[in-house]
Amino acid sequence: MNRKVYGKLIFELSRKGRRGFRIHAAGQAQLPAGIPANLLRQEPLELPETDEPTVVRHYTNMSTNNFGVDTGFYPLGSCTMKYNPKINDEMAAHSVFAGLHPSTPTYAAQGALELYWTLQKALCEIGGMEEFTLNPFAGAQGELTGLMVIRAWHFSRGEGEKRRKVIVPDSAHGTNPASAAVCGLEVVEVKSREDGTVDVADLVPLLDDTVAAMMLTNPNTLGIFEKNIPEIARLVHEAGALLYYDGANLNPMLGVARPGDMGFDVMHINLHKTFSTPHGGGGPGAGPVGVRKGLEKFLPNPRVVKRSVTPDGFPVDKNRRYGIEYSPSALGSVSATLGNFAVQARALAYILSFGSEGLMEAGKLATLNATYIKDSLKDVYLLPIEGLSKHEFVFDGLKDKSTGVTTLNIAKRLLDHGYHAPTIYFPLLFHESLMIEPTETESRETLDEFIGAMREIAREAAEDPETVKTAPHLTPVTRPDDTAAALNPVLTYDML
Ligand SMILES: *Cc1c(COP(=O)(O)O)cnc(C)c1O
Repeated sequence: MNRKVYGKLIFELSRKGRRGFRIHAAGQAQLPAGIPANLLRQEPLELPETDEPTVVRHYTNMSTNNFGVDTGFYPLGSCTMKYNPKINDEMAAHSVFAGLHPSTPTYAAQGALELYWTLQKALCEIGGMEEFTLNPFAGAQGELTGLMVIRAWHFSRGEGEKRRKVIVPDSAHGTNPASAAVCGLEVVEVKSREDGTVDVADLVPLLDDTVAAMMLTNPNTLGIFEKNIPEIARLVHEAGALLYYDGANLNPMLGVARPGDMGFDVMHINLHKTFSTPHGGGGPGAGPVGVRKGLEKFLPNPRVVKRSVTPDGFPVDKNRRYGIEYSPSALGSVSATLGNFAVQARALAYILSFGSEGLMEAGKLATLNATYIKDSLKDVYLLPIEGLSKHEFVFDGLKDKSTGVTTLNIAKRLLDHGYHAPTIYFPLLFHESLMIEPTETESRETLDEFIGAMREIAREAAEDPETVKTAPHLTPVTRPDDTAAALNPVLTYDML
């Protein structure tokens, strides 16, 4: 790597007095008259001074130091880092949407409200739910909102005080217990069986009239479909509790199976995983929440409604068809606005461009691609759970443990091959978890190349383990000290 380009800060490239532009005196802005002297800056700002090519190359090179789904394959399990069609970004960035002010009156924002309403209906169809709110800004906020709906329902039946427990499987994503705790509920863990699914025998004694809900991810974080859902739903409902579906893994289910039909009462969907928003790095998200019939009145405010007639029976003017309502029975507001509009716009563009058949194909391809990688590598990587899996799966490191090469080493060596590492050491069920999710958008050639790199690393681990253990060798930054970085972060130039 070119140290000169990669290793320096823009301030180190600065030369006193150097300029990247020259503006003819006549074109220079005049200071507006009347700014009081005490408000004018006394000392000149300390800014880097460089020529234009230097600054352009600096930032362009820096942008290529980062790994993105536009630069390479990104099999980060549980995160669904799929390539998203650019057309959806273009739709969301269209000036009619991007230029809209959040406080635009409803008669002037009919198109945007129609988009919200249409997406909400599409998600109801996809999830098998009665109604959706698109207001939450993330999967985790969707979980919290869904649990608040569940609490509001129990309170409406006079059982809110006594039902304070939420049952969460030991394989669950960390946000599940966190959301339950933030909601003021107590987390109770249910164990998984050898095959990775919920242990129904362990669940039964946990179910009583102190339980508010059980949260389930299906397929779970091991990529395994929970076959016992009908029985689990019956047991949970018999105990008077509700069943919550964490829909962050909805990708393989699209058009194939619906949580509402499986007996779930409340669910959230991660638009930024399944429905075409680039995800990761804390980027924008949306965690719409759907509920079955009977729970919709507790969904948060504000809501988007479609009216065809006025209360007196007159047809509604076309500029007033979509409106915003505040329901007194709602649990309140979870966001100041109607959620993350640009993420919703991408999701609707994605759903409409695929159509229901296209979505079903996407779901099945996600499963096929993951299964293809799994079956192509299970002779050299340890597959702790045999059998069918969906859009993702977990290896427990290399099969041959004698080399001392760990999952961390494998992940680091993959960077040298030009791939983003899979998710490592999650789920916590195995010592050397390596969780791979290819997504449906990758071609056979990309999958074959990745399989080739994984096999090459396995071969290298046996023949030259030191090279794998000291990887990466070809990246601009090699092995940062994660712990020191977390304990003593250097965040600005001044702190160097
Ligand atoms: C990503 C994820 C979440 C949380 O979603 P965020 O938008 O990151 O808050 C919850 N559950 C599962 C299974 C996930 O993969």
